[in-house]
Amino acid sequence: MTTDIEIARAATLRTMPEIAAKLDLPEVALIPYGRDKAKIDAAFISALEGRENGKLILVTAISPTPAGEGKTTTTVGLGDGLQRIGKRAAICIREASLGPNFGMKGGAAGGGRAQIVPMESMNLHFTGDFHAIGAAHNLLAAMIDNHLYWGNDLGIDERRVVWRRVVDMNDRALRDIVVSLGGVSNGFPRQTGFDITVASEVMACLCLSRDLEELEERLGRMVVAYRRDRSPITCADIGAQGAMVVLLKDALQPNLVQSLEATPAFVHGGPFANIAHGCNSVIATQTALKLADYVVTEAGFGADLGAEKFFDIKCRKAGLKPDAAVIVATVRALKMNGGVAKADLAEENVAAVDAGCANLARHIANTRRFGVPVVVAINHFTTDTEDEIDAIRAAAEAQGVEAVLCTHWADGGAGAEALARKVAELTEAPSEFAPLYPDEMGLFEKIETIARTIYHAGEVIADRKVLDQLREWETAGYRDLPVCMAKTQYSFSSDPTLIGAPTGHALPIREVRLAAGAGFVVAICGEIMTMPGLPRHPAAEKIGLDNEGRIEGLF
Ligand code: ADP
Ligand code: MG
Repeated sequence: MTTDIEIARAATLRTMPEIAAKLDLPEVALIPYGRDKAKIDAAFISALEGRENGKLILVTAISPTPAGEGKTTTTVGLGDGLQRIGKRAAICIREASLGPNFGMKGGAAGGGRAQIVPMESMNLHFTGDFHAIGAAHNLLAAMIDNHLYWGNDLGIDERRVVWRRVVDMNDRALRDIVVSLGGVSNGFPRQTGFDITVASEVMACLCLSRDLEELEERLGRMVVAYRRDRSPITCADIGAQGAMVVLLKDALQPNLVQSLEATPAFVHGGPFANIAHGCNSVIATQTALKLADYVVTEAGFGADLGAEKFFDIKCRKAGLKPDAAVIVATVRALKMNGGVAKADLAEENVAAVDAGCANLARHIANTRRFGVPVVVAINHFTTDTEDEIDAIRAAAEAQGVEAVLCTHWADGGAGAEALARKVAELTEAPSEFAPLYPDEMGLFEKIETIARTIYHAGEVIADRKVLDQLREWETAGYRDLPVCMAKTQYSFSSDPTLIGAPTGHALPIREVRLAAGAGFVVAICGEIMTMPGLPRHPAAEKIGLDNEGRIEGLF
């Protein structure tokens, strides 16, 4: 079998001006990053403002297996499929975090014949955006400790500094650390820690900002610490937002690359899908919508998390109106949701697929609740049987939705032409999109609304401490913020082993966090890791350069 990297390497890439020309993007709007990557000039983007938007298509999925069900692969395949049927299409996906590449094998550029290229670059340093985000984040951290060192005029409670540091690496040793050891000249020792860069609120701010001005405002609003009386201290109090935005000036400009079939692809931003909203930047999506007639974009995790946050956070804030949603389903994930053990997923089991389709049905109903028409994409694996595929078709049909068999992983865009036609048809009607809850609703009520309608939970459990905290934020002026749910992607509940379509479960809210700059309140249900670790044998042990200087062992 040919590997992803072999397929990607065999591709002949078009020049960036050729890709840009597909969107009537003039060469002067491109800021080249080498031969096969470019950023799009901010001035050109602001001049697009008055233009009409193209159609926006969200790719989401059923509750996945740990291997992933092919959302990115399908996003790319559908973009290629639309291009093949003669549409002016663009793809929008997230940039990859560096750290996970060295842990488990597997990239973020799609797979098989549906990939974004140059894939090694996209998965590694790319255009340096994440390094810039890390630098901006850590500048603020340094300025907070510096403020403490020089007398602490703001009255920061050293025990309540909530701004941590970030690095784009899986490094569990940095989760909890003590800084400022070594004597008087090094400051006041205090406990803190590192998160992975994609978990930084700076990342979420960048991904939700339309321009540098908005980014600076958002950064300024971020809460970094509290005083003894619990009043918040912001990034603006520290005075870091101006310098941070200087570091982020280039990073805010979206990156343009291409798919294997030379469909223009915007790859920009990559917030965590748990403690943040998990989709590419607003600026990339909006730029793509001004330039293309069809924009295909992905949201992280299953639809209960990814699509909900895409709709209730990203679309709400950016005023986007999605026109259609594609729910990716695979035979193996449905079997898993039907109760089959991981080791037996390769064997035919129609009854299990049938049972697992309860999960698909719930995701379909949930997505339609937002007023967005749905099509199911069956991402075909070579081990799938006819009968298993028919079972998915029947389950979708019972919901009044079409399920289209797609072979883009094996065949490229040709394998997603049928899906592309269906999507084009669905987007003909004007969008009736509406978010799930109004801004004015109370914060806890918002959590309850999501839990009851999307997760089918019976109740939401929260201690007094959590409820008091939410009320405190409401009084402090944060009532209108949406909530960002941080929950396992493997179940509608907070218990990853509760597969299928559970009802009546209790959703415990362990902790709440305020992301005042990004503009949401995070509700944490269960264990959420913001600094991943590496496995016993990390992929890094096998990664190296071959005799010709090419990367080996990465994918
Ligand atoms: P997601 O975005 O949902 O996490 P990806 O699109 O990144 O999923 O795919 C996860 C992995 O599965 C990738 O390594 C990809 O190459 C592989 N994959 C996706 N679709 C198929 C398929 N139809 N057959 C075989 N492998 C696939
Ligand atoms: Mg993905």
